[in-house]
Amino acid sequence: MFKKILIANRGEIAVRIIRACRELGIQTVAIYSSVDRASLYVKLAHEAYLLGGPQPKESYLNMKKIIEIAKSSGAQAIHPGYGFLAENPKFVKLCEKNRIKFIGPDSLTMERVGNKLLARKIVEEAGVPIIPGSKEPIKSNKEARDLARRLGLPIIIKAAFGGGGRGLRRVNKLKELPGALKVARLEARVSFDDPSLYIEKYIRNPKHIEVQILADEHNNMIHLGERDCTIQRRYQKLLEETPSPVVDEKLRNRLGEAALKAAKAVEYTNAGTVEFILDERKNFYFIEINARIQVEHSVTERVTGVDLVKAQIRLATGERLRFRQKDISLDGCAMECRINVEDPLNDFTPSPGTIRNLRFPGGLGVRVDSSIYSGYTIPLYYDTLIAKLTVWGKDREEVIRRMGAALNEFIIEGVKTTVPLHKAILCERDFQRGRISLSFIERHRLLKRLKVNNRASEKIAVIAGCLLAYRNCKKPPLKREKKRENLWRRGFAESKWQRGLKKI
Ligand code: ADP
Repeated sequence: MFKKILIANRGEIAVRIIRACRELGIQTVAIYSSVDRASLYVKLAHEAYLLGGPQPKESYLNMKKIIEIAKSSGAQAIHPGYGFLAENPKFVKLCEKNRIKFIGPDSLTMERVGNKLLARKIVEEAGVPIIPGSKEPIKSNKEARDLARRLGLPIIIKAAFGGGGRGLRRVNKLKELPGALKVARLEARVSFDDPSLYIEKYIRNPKHIEVQILADEHNNMIHLGERDCTIQRRYQKLLEETPSPVVDEKLRNRLGEAALKAAKAVEYTNAGTVEFILDERKNFYFIEINARIQVEHSVTERVTGVDLVKAQIRLATGERLRFRQKDISLDGCAMECRINVEDPLNDFTPSPGTIRNLRFPGGLGVRVDSSIYSGYTIPLYYDTLIAKLTVWGKDREEVIRRMGAALNEFIIEGVKTTVPLHKAILCERDFQRGRISLSFIERHRLLKRLKVNNRASEKIAVIAGCLLAYRNCKKPPLKREKKRENLWRRGFAESKWQRGLKKI
């Protein structure tokens, strides 16, 4: 087993990895940018080293500096978490050159899966269904137009080295194609340093279903069931659950087999995720392999009982898989809500700032992964994810009720978050019945309705404020005043939520 691991990441995932290392008796090395000095993960790690300024290029993407720190601190391995350098084949190569174990697949596999177009080709040759589309990067507008005509509209343009929903453009009409290609190419160049694009047929009303896999370095591989990540905004996941409400045992086995076939074709090792699109007829198509731990891994951990981060570390030492496929069973249901500092009422604008008051929910089956605390100032340079709320229940109805109660308990003041949007999603009858698709939020006009509710609660807040001020002038007995204040604190949202619950 490794004695010391460097964590090349920040935030909640750094905390998550430190916890796994502590259980395994491994010393941890944190790295941080100048604005992350006060972060929880820096305090929790055994050692911590400053990387540089706040820009990712000066800090979490500075490969040379990270390798230097790993060597000088005596770390034998690097856990990359997700994002930053987690899927960068150059960084994996640098680790290999410096004899530091990268906790993830090797650089060759990383190259195969990092190029989504190449991965499509390899996986198709292995017999896994892919979405009809490009075989090669798009070379001209004419070629794109011909392909779009052949596939039939709508189509979706993707960046060959893309991720995080960037570089994606849906095209509904041929005349939109040149503009969409231009914007997607620019976005791909800026975000991924490579302008290569490809086209896929756009699947209508799809579901995003992904399969978690674990593979050792001795050709053993298992899958741990699916995650349904259909609730998204701007092609980015917002809420995930397992098992999927639309996947039965037979489909789960077929998805699992396809995922393992895809992973074998690219010679995958360590933990990874094979992503699929499921159409209305329940046909599934491969979209990509994510060669890292996913944000939403916690739901799989909860129903399978497998600690995926510990498994990653063990597999990186060359250990054989501790489980066989028949050992994996799913216990109940789990759901995760991503809590981002974003304002859903204002086009999801990032809303970093100082946390003035914080209280995490708790109780049976409730897990919070986060690196924030009261008084902590969230820097504006990085991802907006600040907490993950994962809830378990014996069935989906229990999960939804428990998640609703947990969201109501979640107090976070000083910043705007996605909590109200999650509450609104849970209240929707279609969500409760598992009738979801990628356009769920737009289709149910959730943002518009949230705005209306917000305006109503703002009015109530003003009226309540005036009443309170009036009462204060009249100096009512302390007990009555307290009671009124408490009533107000419980708030409008809670009573809305309770009304929503009755619909289940
Ligand atoms: P990224 O790597 O940027 O996350 P993906 O290829 O994984 O991009 O796609 C992001 C999301 O877009 C997916 O989760 C899925 O919901 C949606 N999507 C991808 N391809 C298609 C498609 N061909 N048709 C419909 N939706 C798609």
